[in-house]
Amino acid sequence: MSERIYNFNPGPAILPVEVLEQASKDILEYQNTGMSLIELSHRSKEFMAVTDTAEALLREIMEIPDNYKVLFLQGGASTQFFMVPMNLLGPGKKATYLNTGTWSKKAIKEAKLFGDIDVAYSSEATTFNRVPTQDEYTVADDSEYLYLTSNNTIYGTQFRDFPVTEKMLISDMSSDILSRKVDVSKFGIIFAGAQKNLGPSGVTVVIIREDLLERTPENVPTMLSYKTHADKGSMFNTPPCFSIYTVGEVLKWLKKQGGVEGIEKINREKAEILYSAMDEGDYYRGHAEKASRSWMNVSFNLPTPELEAKFIAEAAKVGLGGLKGHRSIGGCRASIYNAFPVKGVEKLVAFMREFEQKNP
Ligand code: PMP
Repeated sequence: MSERIYNFNPGPAILPVEVLEQASKDILEYQNTGMSLIELSHRSKEFMAVTDTAEALLREIMEIPDNYKVLFLQGGASTQFFMVPMNLLGPGKKATYLNTGTWSKKAIKEAKLFGDIDVAYSSEATTFNRVPTQDEYTVADDSEYLYLTSNNTIYGTQFRDFPVTEKMLISDMSSDILSRKVDVSKFGIIFAGAQKNLGPSGVTVVIIREDLLERTPENVPTMLSYKTHADKGSMFNTPPCFSIYTVGEVLKWLKKQGGVEGIEKINREKAEILYSAMDEGDYYRGHAEKASRSWMNVSFNLPTPELEAKFIAEAAKVGLGGLKGHRSIGGCRASIYNAFPVKGVEKLVAFMREFEQKNP
């Protein structure tokens, strides 16, 4: 096997080696069942235990209150862009959205199919280089909820503090779930595609306040109603078994890192190492305004696109992979999710200094 590289991919993304090792064993045979983990019936007691463990760990680590359901759904985070308004809105109902990047914009487009959408803030004019402060938008009194993307994966911005409002928050936390402490009780729904901080692609975790399950209009198809999945413990139809299993293993790993409190410290450290290296000069220019900087995705530019291409190619040769920025803004991006080690960030920073010296 070749040596593992430091994988800066934005998602699917790096996973802890011990999780991969355990998964590779369980793929061959799961706990003396005489079959692979992915051959188990989803209704077997063994697999039910897998799902129960994943849910229990998520509840424990995120301190999810009892009046919330945890669902394991399919269709990616993109499906939640329409499931949220489809279940919570309807003719004449309003919701407020903050437009802070590509993923918010897509969510807004879908929400407009189901209700009256008030876009209270947008940073599109400045290429989504920031998220708003509290005084830059107002939430309409008749809004059902305030929607935000907590971390903007492409632009490298993040809400360091969540909006303070009487309205319930709904958040796409695909790229920063479990990276820091969050007060779940402020949210009606939190959702996240697993393929960044939680595990492989294929499953979307939805945390939903129980009373919201009663709001779904009658004409919503069975599979797209949250209540369907809540009533059946995410087993209404065949769930994404392998993805749910891996989420459980990632959560076991996360618990060993000290849970969100432990990982938040490490995430802060990684972000500080990288941003302070960038701030040493103006060779590496961060896309995000300082106050909006993400601890998960660091998007930056070099003086020219040619230097950026060279930087990405040479970094890959020394085992620093996945540094190409998203095609919509170009440049470079280092995604440093929970499973990304501090050592990899130190290696990147050393490489950045050396590259700048050689290519002034
Ligand atoms: N939201 C955010 C914040 C994302 O980063 C992504 C994917 N990178 C999505 C939504 C879309 O997720 P999916 O591909 O699971 O639909």
